[in-house]
Amino acid sequence: MPEGQVITVTGARPIETLGVVDAHDHLLMDSPGMPDQAITDVDRSTEEARDAVATGIGTLVEMTPIGLGRNPAGLRAISERSGLAVIAASGFHRDAHYPAGSWVHDAPVELLQERIVTDLTVGMHPADWDDPDLPLDEARAGAIKGGASYHRISRFEHTRLEAIGAASAATGAAILVHTEIGTAGHEIVDLLESVGATTDRIALAHLDRNPDWELHAEIAARGVTLEYDTIGRTKYHADSVVLDLVERVAAAGHLERIVLGLDLGARDYLRAYEGGPGLRYLMTTFVPRLRRRLGDDAVARILIANPARLYAVPARAGSPA
Ligand SMILES: [Zn+2]
Repeated sequence: MPEGQVITVTGARPIETLGVVDAHDHLLMDSPGMPDQAITDVDRSTEEARDAVATGIGTLVEMTPIGLGRNPAGLRAISERSGLAVIAASGFHRDAHYPAGSWVHDAPVELLQERIVTDLTVGMHPADWDDPDLPLDEARAGAIKGGASYHRISRFEHTRLEAIGAASAATGAAILVHTEIGTAGHEIVDLLESVGATTDRIALAHLDRNPDWELHAEIAARGVTLEYDTIGRTKYHADSVVLDLVERVAAAGHLERIVLGLDLGARDYLRAYEGGPGLRYLMTTFVPRLRRRLGDDAVARILIANPARLYAVPARAGSPA
């Protein structure tokens, strides 16, 4: 097990204490692009978090970035009431999630980077700087979200990814980048590396939307983490697609680069909001099948050791505990 700590919304904690990690999910989110799918009820989201804990999940990485209804105080309440450790995110999504007029679109790279580093080292802004005068929340972010478009990185996405890469280089925080249907992976990594981010700090989300194991093995060979997170969202593909993919990528020698999540960022997906499959699905339905394919040791690597290594940040002298 690697050494280090992660930053959760209730403080820093040693990575040995994380347990099973859902490496990408959502507890509170309100994207301007999906108003009817907002997840904003702290009581219901606490119920969903308790359900996850009951299945054996210890830590959830809450990947809602700046501008999509981030609620640090709400995440603290959910974590305290459910016992689920929650790593929150800073950073920015792809263009499609920001309405016209959002400050995010044309902010200079220096301002974008400064706000990410503030989230990671001081505390998250409670309203994502829509009202810059509000005091920062006590909870810090522990990871950085990024986003790119389908087979391309737009001009504004390029600027945001520069800020994200530089913020990771400055803090050691992990970056998880939304890929649109698993595309543009190499280009995203090239850009982040060009501003100083190292590949051991980079993960690419939704790669299973393009279940091309040869491409994934190439990306993993660069030291990048592969995130498979379309599990249980059957409208996209069957779980057997992800099981096959994990098996082939592991056989190609990259077991240590795989992490899993469900990415249930909509009311329709959460049981506490009368949807499904719900956060419980990972452990109750998918992981038993994965164990039959790979055995317990490999599953522990994927669920515990790999995400702990990815989301670990260096302990800093004087940082709040
Ligand atoms: Zn997500």
